[in-house]
Amino acid sequence: MKGFGIIKPMVSVGWLEKEKPVLTEYGAILVPVAISPCTSDVHAAFELGDTPTAYNRILGHEAIGRIVEVGPRVKDFKVGDVVTFPSVTPNWRAPNIQDEPHQHSDHIMGGLKISTVSDGVMAEYFPVDDADLNLARIPENVSIEDALMVGDMMTTGFHGAELAEVKFGDTVCVMGIGPVGLMAVAGAALRGASKIFGVGSRPNCVKLAKEYGATDFINYKEGPVHEQVLAKTNGRGVDCVIVAGGNQDSIESAGYMTRPGGVIANVNVFVEPTLTMSTWSMGMLLGHKKLVGGMCPGGRRRLERLLDMIAAGRVQPGKMLTHIYHGIDSLPEAFDIMKNKPADLIKPVVYF
Ligand code: NAP
Ligand code: ZN
Repeated sequence: MKGFGIIKPMVSVGWLEKEKPVLTEYGAILVPVAISPCTSDVHAAFELGDTPTAYNRILGHEAIGRIVEVGPRVKDFKVGDVVTFPSVTPNWRAPNIQDEPHQHSDHIMGGLKISTVSDGVMAEYFPVDDADLNLARIPENVSIEDALMVGDMMTTGFHGAELAEVKFGDTVCVMGIGPVGLMAVAGAALRGASKIFGVGSRPNCVKLAKEYGATDFINYKEGPVHEQVLAKTNGRGVDCVIVAGGNQDSIESAGYMTRPGGVIANVNVFVEPTLTMSTWSMGMLLGHKKLVGGMCPGGRRRLERLLDMIAAGRVQPGKMLTHIYHGIDSLPEAFDIMKNKPADLIKPVVYF
């Protein structure tokens, strides 16, 4: 079958010819209905190094699919069902997840399999392991576009708000308002934040951040983010920072703008091998500032809960889809636009 993926890591992506995936007892095989390329696909292809497992790996982990085969032990799904699924599909039988977050089944980040260690969704067919535990049905009043944004963008952005422990009345800064940061804005607003600073420069992102609940905006190109936030908060800073974009200085900047006892929650993938952090930014590490980072929660129930929020009219993540493509042959163009990020882009979608 035909798939789009990494030919030589750090150098090239393109079409790959691969065997159709093999059905497993508890798994399912799907054909894509809609796919959205992700910033993490770009990281995997061009920024995370020349690793042996990256060669000839099909990209993509955000999709809606139609089931064409189900394993004999799958109970709740059948051929023909149109479903969504998370980018994190853990090994739910790994004993360590009785102690540790499921995102780290078997080993750290072990739940991240689709397109990271195994082939992804940008192909004629793709598999999902453990269908009963990882697939989610799309409620009748939830659109394909909204459902497509649940498995990675919404679960990740909302996890940023969870990790940041946003409480009623908190002042929050969301560093980066690409699709992940936009969902962090929405998540923080739903958890009861008061002021929300959105940090970014693309006009479409700023406009949508306002719709999702951001109240103030910072352009990181106009000076250090923490200086701008401190100036707008009478020097107090914010209760929490959700880092959903930025560079090697962003954690330090988050430290400076977080008040004593506050939380810095990172969901950004840093491709730099080291981050700079002056001890002063964290009050010489005596400031009672908590720094935490996490990968998005996966699993069927997580997705069903988020889909219920959409069905109830709480949030419309499908609004983030700005660029529309049709057919498998448009995957290279859709990936390219995610790599180049023109000013009007938030997220592309490819319909099949
Ligand atoms: P994106 O579209 O590239 O958005 C990044 C945002 O950061 C943009 O708003 C950008 O501003 C802003 N930014 C860039 N440089 C900055 C700087 N120096 N200081 C402050 N802000 C800056 O990315 P995305 O698709 O939203 O993804 C965000 C990150 O989440 C990526 O690293 C992705 O790999 C990661 N991710 C993590 C998980 C997880 O499980 N933890 C899951 C999915 C994705 P502009 O408006 O100027 O572009
Ligand atoms: Zn993704």
